[in-house]
Amino acid sequence: MTFTAHVRSRGTSATGNFAFKWYVDGVEANSGIATSIAAGYEATYDLSYTWQQGHHVISFFADPANAITEKSEQNNLRTEHIDALLIGFWVERSVYNFFDTNQYSYAQRLGIADEANSWEDWAQRQVDKWNKMFEAAIFTSTPQGCIDRVRLDRVVIVNDNTLPLNGGLPTNHPDTRDKTVDVMWGFEKDILSSGFYNTTFSSSPFNLEPGLIHELNHARYLVDSYALNIHGKHIGVLDDNGNRIYPNTIL
Ligand SMILES: [Zn+2]
Repeated sequence: MTFTAHVRSRGTSATGNFAFKWYVDGVEANSGIATSIAAGYEATYDLSYTWQQGHHVISFFADPANAITEKSEQNNLRTEHIDALLIGFWVERSVYNFFDTNQYSYAQRLGIADEANSWEDWAQRQVDKWNKMFEAAIFTSTPQGCIDRVRLDRVVIVNDNTLPLNGGLPTNHPDTRDKTVDVMWGFEKDILSSGFYNTTFSSSPFNLEPGLIHELNHARYLVDSYALNIHGKHIGVLDDNGNRIYPNTIL
């Protein structure tokens, strides 16, 4: 089989040929020198891989020696689980552009360590968080946590006001013709005018969008707590500061 890394150049601050390396389970598997990617263009790099049973990870690292000066140095390495479920995101162009324009300054202002600099970087942040939640879901009945892992496998940029592409809901069913991913979600332009992706505070979905992870977990058969007839005011879960996560009045 073949793994393909997609590398996009967002601007002119990084130019020149650059080295890249592939790793399998942390061991270098392949390397090469890539020619400079022109601003606004994407290049792809392949790794041939023979499937191995069990849990394995693949990494792609662009410019591993940090020879090229870039605006963001934190988005050059991706480590992915070979057996991950595949996530596809369909995004209307205005949303995509909004993240490209504003995510970097937002991450800088709030000191977010990933130095996200694009819609894709933001999307990878959500997927990373989702995987961490799976990993952390260790309970008596699930001693290994939740063993699902996910990987952002497909990003499709579409024109504004075109979702859904084949009926259904613009969010849940961005393109029902697509059978290449396990889980899909669509991001509509209309959400921008609602101020949903607020760029001023750290608990904004512009940082982390728990509602997205919540909705995507439905595709993995996780029901809503309120479907069990438990309402927010009955959930006494506290955050790290001792405040109730569902701050409704306790009856
Ligand atoms: Zn729900």
